[in-house]
Amino acid sequence: MHQRRPLTRFRSGLALLGGLSWAACSTAPASSVAGPVPRSAPAAPATPTPPPKAAQTRAESTRAYALPTWAPFDTAIVRGTRTRTGEPGPAYWQQRAEYHLEAELNQVSKRLNGRGTITYHNNSPDTLPTIYIQAYGNLFAPEAKRNTPVLATLGGIIFTKVAVEGRALDSSALGAGWTVTGTVMALRLPKPLLPGTSVELEFGWNLRIPPDGPRGGQDRETYVLSYWYPQVAVYDDVNGWQIDQYLGNAEFYMGYGDYDVALTVPEGWLVGSTGTLQNPEEVLSDSTRARLARAHAGGSVVSIVPDNGRGAGKATQKGKDGKLTWRFKAENVRDVTWATSNLYLWDATTAAVGVREGSSVPDTTMIYSFYRTDARRSGWGESATYASRAITIFSKVLWPYPYPHMTVVDGPSSCGGMEYPMMTCIGGDWNERTLLDVEAHEIAHMWFPMQVGSDEKRYAWMDEGMAQYFQSIAIDAQFPDADDVGENRRNYVGAVRYGKETEMMRYGDKYPDYNAYGIASYFKPATVLVALGGVISDSTVLRGIREYGKRWNGRHPMPNDFWNTMNEVSGQDLDWFWRTWYYETWKLDQAIDGVVRANSDTLVITVENKGRAPMPVLLVARGASGDTTNLTVPVDVWFQGEKKVAVRMAVPQDFTRLEIDPTQRFPDADRSNQSWPQR
Ligand SMILES: [Zn+2]
Repeated sequence: MHQRRPLTRFRSGLALLGGLSWAACSTAPASSVAGPVPRSAPAAPATPTPPPKAAQTRAESTRAYALPTWAPFDTAIVRGTRTRTGEPGPAYWQQRAEYHLEAELNQVSKRLNGRGTITYHNNSPDTLPTIYIQAYGNLFAPEAKRNTPVLATLGGIIFTKVAVEGRALDSSALGAGWTVTGTVMALRLPKPLLPGTSVELEFGWNLRIPPDGPRGGQDRETYVLSYWYPQVAVYDDVNGWQIDQYLGNAEFYMGYGDYDVALTVPEGWLVGSTGTLQNPEEVLSDSTRARLARAHAGGSVVSIVPDNGRGAGKATQKGKDGKLTWRFKAENVRDVTWATSNLYLWDATTAAVGVREGSSVPDTTMIYSFYRTDARRSGWGESATYASRAITIFSKVLWPYPYPHMTVVDGPSSCGGMEYPMMTCIGGDWNERTLLDVEAHEIAHMWFPMQVGSDEKRYAWMDEGMAQYFQSIAIDAQFPDADDVGENRRNYVGAVRYGKETEMMRYGDKYPDYNAYGIASYFKPATVLVALGGVISDSTVLRGIREYGKRWNGRHPMPNDFWNTMNEVSGQDLDWFWRTWYYETWKLDQAIDGVVRANSDTLVITVENKGRAPMPVLLVARGASGDTTNLTVPVDVWFQGEKKVAVRMAVPQDFTRLEIDPTQRFPDADRSNQSWPQR
């Protein structure tokens, strides 16, 4: 999901006000306060003087910076499903499911009727007496618990049939049967599901589509159908079943599977969906298919359905009884979401994705944009172009986009910007510049968490932080002066300075408020990855993330898998970094405490660590003629608990000024004590 920028930018001494909201507040365009952080490697490390005290052993002193032990992860290592090097273990397993779903939208009653089967494969070594089903639609049930306001009186998801291996089960408290609590169904099987076997589940259900509910819903004749079917909860090797309630704020954790869906809508309505359309001749008119073929051939954006081309017999075929059924198939995805409207215009183009694995030639993917006429004032005429650029940039920086299309839909304002496999729904008011930003963010989600399937509820930073970090890379590539990195840093540092920070390793529904969630899940993790680039270089950060992606594509990584991979790829034990930035709210505040001239070109500098976060010290000395010298004080000078350290540094003969981290690579909470002489 996209996190709106706080309205208060922490410049004027105002505390964090309720600026980070999900819905329609205006987004200030990115400012250009400082230039982008230079992508240079850190300077050569210094030898500190005096040397650290010898009285304390290294083991004792670094214990404060070790990662907390995590028993379930240690057990997974013993069982061989995880490793200490960040790769999946030799015994790694993952559950899988095949979905065959049919759904019909009734645009008069605003209801969705669905039926279908799920074949669930138990690849775990455990016998499962109960399977848990996510019924996210129950967020709208009167009795559901919520931490996001919704129109509660709509009711939730109504199950008309629940069957296992063809045997219908009752909603009952005892024995084989099913019980729904909030947004989670416990389905007690007639026979426990043994390891290495599968079971067929069958469901009939219906639900009232929420008007502009969180992350989808209905807005006039436009519907974004997210979380519209019963989905098997994730059972993984570390945490077992993830059956935390969907309360509206914290997001999702979804397993991988294959989907075959049939979606019935009124004729003349366009459908955009996760997956590949299986029956274009049945639903699309000849002219629509001809234009699509032209777009597929590459080149500029093609208007597939223009203003005067909407409706049955023009955009779509004419249907039976006024309806058309659109069939989509998607393989190895976490979810299927679809959007439909009789108001949509449709633009299409291609995006270069580079050479995909198993191929030897550069490939492309299709880009589809569905939007209403009045969305043009929010920049939607450019949305296909923006999406194409973002896909190409991330395909280069990360790895080739694997899906057959990327579809951007204009939806209810509550979408803000929300990601689904191959799809994003963007709602609310934007302009051409901010629409580009939000598209970049959502499209980064096509890698995290769509391909790298982390648990968004427990570890929101694993997908939101990544999306926020890569969003900056896409924006920088197009607008070098945008300083999206600086925006993230200022949002985080502002929270630190006003004592509003909460640690990143916290369950997404357990933050004191949205501001704290937004800082810890978006702005801080993105800022921390930029800071990591100041420790191990940006190219090593990216190399580490690519390796992490390769290892965990289509799988379920835990935080330690990310950290262990980064440790291995960088060749460094960075546990002090993970502990400091992910588990703690330690402040970084490095200061120049004193400077003595040893001779004409050497200074003895006393650096003070006024905060608790240990970080290398990036010193830059400048001469009047513009010459500079650099010195990096290594991080381990702080590991003994020292608060001050003195270092000798060669400076230009015409030395005038000394500064810590002039490019603001690290998120220091107080910049006023980082230069000498002070301004
Ligand atoms: Zn996001």
